[in-house]
Amino acid sequence: MPLSFDNTEIAFRYRSDKELKRAHFLFSSMSSPFLSKTGMRLTQLAMSWNLPIKSMIKKTIFQQFCGGETIEEAAQTSAILGRYNVGVALDYSVEGKEEEAEFDHAVPEFVKAIEYAATQKNIPFIPIKITGFARFGLLEKIHEGAALSAAEQEEWKRVQDRIDRICATAARCRNMILIDAEESWIQQPVDDLADAMMEKYNKGSIVIFNTFQMYRHDRLIFLEASHRKAMARGYILGAKLVRGAYMEKERARAEEKGYPSPIQPDKASTDRDYDLGVAYCLDHLDSIALFIGTHNEQSCYKATEIIRQKGLQPGNNHIYLSQLYGMSDNITFNLADAGYNVSKYLPYGPVKDVIPYLMRRAQENTSVAGQTGRELGLIKKEMSRRGL
Ligand SMILES: Cc1cc2nc3c(=O)[nH]c(=O)nc-3n(C[C@H](O)[C@H](O)[C@H](O)COP(=O)(O)OP(=O)(O)OC[C@H]3O[C@@H](n4cnc5c(N)ncnc54)[C@H](O)[C@@H]3O)c2cc1C
Repeated sequence: MPLSFDNTEIAFRYRSDKELKRAHFLFSSMSSPFLSKTGMRLTQLAMSWNLPIKSMIKKTIFQQFCGGETIEEAAQTSAILGRYNVGVALDYSVEGKEEEAEFDHAVPEFVKAIEYAATQKNIPFIPIKITGFARFGLLEKIHEGAALSAAEQEEWKRVQDRIDRICATAARCRNMILIDAEESWIQQPVDDLADAMMEKYNKGSIVIFNTFQMYRHDRLIFLEASHRKAMARGYILGAKLVRGAYMEKERARAEEKGYPSPIQPDKASTDRDYDLGVAYCLDHLDSIALFIGTHNEQSCYKATEIIRQKGLQPGNNHIYLSQLYGMSDNITFNLADAGYNVSKYLPYGPVKDVIPYLMRRAQENTSVAGQTGRELGLIKKEMSRRGL
């Protein structure tokens, strides 16, 4: 049978009737730009005034997009996904920290997550954001090529040590680290660090993935250059391909500062480079491990079609597909059902700390009209199938 993402019975079989109704309510609300904007603004204000709205957030948007507040809570969600052969990228999603003590504190939290993941058969990935371990201003300065003071050089050394400790733990525990891509104006040190970690840990097997944001017009060339570098230095390139999450911010900054936008001129160009990037990686699976992070059905269909044409196994250990928890279950669960290595990015952390992540999801589901419409359509279809 050809692969189809239309089967909502498979897509939502891990969701109870109650959960499905909650998802329906949430996606309906987010589809209204007015409700969504007001909700986001009020949430930010209420959090900054310390109003007791945590339990309301936790019961609604948090439950839809997050695994829990602690690793133990996330473990329960993860176990449910595991029943349907869906893996997990266990994402300690605390953002916006800027203090050395907070960066230091994050390391044992990640080590704990990796060690826990090693005891579970469906948690192969731990995503990390370098900004969770480094001051944004420091990364910006390195990206610009500015000279660092002696104190900043020490600071940068501490960042490298933190990342190395996490990657070493993953190598020891046979887990994989996904280094997320962030804003283009801090990306150079992130890429350099990712390359250094790949060179150290990706020699015999795949441990580290860097992320390529194909909404940038220079990333297809960069992907190929990264591959050549990996081959020259004898390590496997871990390539996580996404479209990119900061488009509005990128464009606004470029305009404000008067430099050419790093973003593709239109969506079709992003889609083209995304699919070309995936095809390039699938052509070089001997030296590339590919992680396809997307909710785009066409990109997933195209990838699976290449895999089929090449006679590759869906469960090939250099091919992974992934969606965010709470979105595009029709893709994840139907791919899992067809034997592909799929996972959900499953964020967890204290409610107040995952607010930036939740805001991005709310915004994404408002601005990308097609996505919300699709989610709602699928949820409605499944509700009517269940007679709800
Ligand atoms: C598992 C996973 C991991 C992720 N990790 C990261 C990460 O590390 N870093 C990161 O930045 N993002 C990350 N994302 C988010 C991702 O970059 C996208 O924002 C999100 O997935 C939407 O893109 P899409 O491919 O799913 O779908 P689509 O809905 O097909 O594409 C929407 C995307 O297309 C691009 N786009 C939209 N309009 C235009 C336009 N006019 N011109 C040019 N491009 C346009 C934008 O990137 C937009 O987000 C991740 C997503 C997933 C699923």
